[in-house]
Amino acid sequence: RFITLEGGEGAGKSTQIRLLADALAACGKTVVPTREPGGSPGAEDIRGLLVSGETGRWSPVTEALLHTAARRDHLERTVWPALEAGHWVVCDRFFDSTMAYQGYGLGLGRELVATLQEAALGGFRPDLTLILDLPVEDGLARAAARRGGEDRYERMDIAFHHRLRAGFLDIAARDPERCVVIDAAHPVEAVQAAILDCVTRRLGV
Ligand code: C5P
Repeated sequence: RFITLEGGEGAGKSTQIRLLADALAACGKTVVPTREPGGSPGAEDIRGLLVSGETGRWSPVTEALLHTAARRDHLERTVWPALEAGHWVVCDRFFDSTMAYQGYGLGLGRELVATLQEAALGGFRPDLTLILDLPVEDGLARAAARRGGEDRYERMDIAFHHRLRAGFLDIAARDPERCVVIDAAHPVEAVQAAILDCVTRRLGV
């Protein structure tokens, strides 16, 4: 099974990935936690180009292409082999982040991003996507407290982050079979409980 977690800055994805992976392992599953951009040696190299690049180094299209190239490598080297071995893969960000950040946030639009994903992934999709949602100001405050506001997207204007949040909610509304929105404004334990409940109901763990 392939589960992805999505959300804007400071939504708490990495904490929840860890808790979810532990819970699945406690149920006897072999779990492969991974992340994007990255998750394979080649994709981690591409991540370096993306996250250490100064703002404006890449155009939005180039950025989407780099994320998508990294994703293809991550799938070939890490995700597909793990799924074939019968493992559960839990991934911090996936193609919905490209749609939300580059498609909605940077204004590339849905169609272009969807076309790139189709070309690179051939229709492969997660079994379940959990979208961690919280008010933009709360997420940015959490992210700034954590990293000192060094992240490139934390320095984007607030309108970008509103487009990002609305984008994730729109993605979820268009694909309710796959996506569930989780209220991430609650304490860690409550968010964890909501995620486990959802995974149990949807995937029957
Ligand atoms: O999830 P994490 O914060 O580790 O993501 C790494 C960086 O990549 C963040 O700045 C995130 O906003 C950015 N990102 C992006 N476009 C994507 C996925 C992630 O700009 N498609």
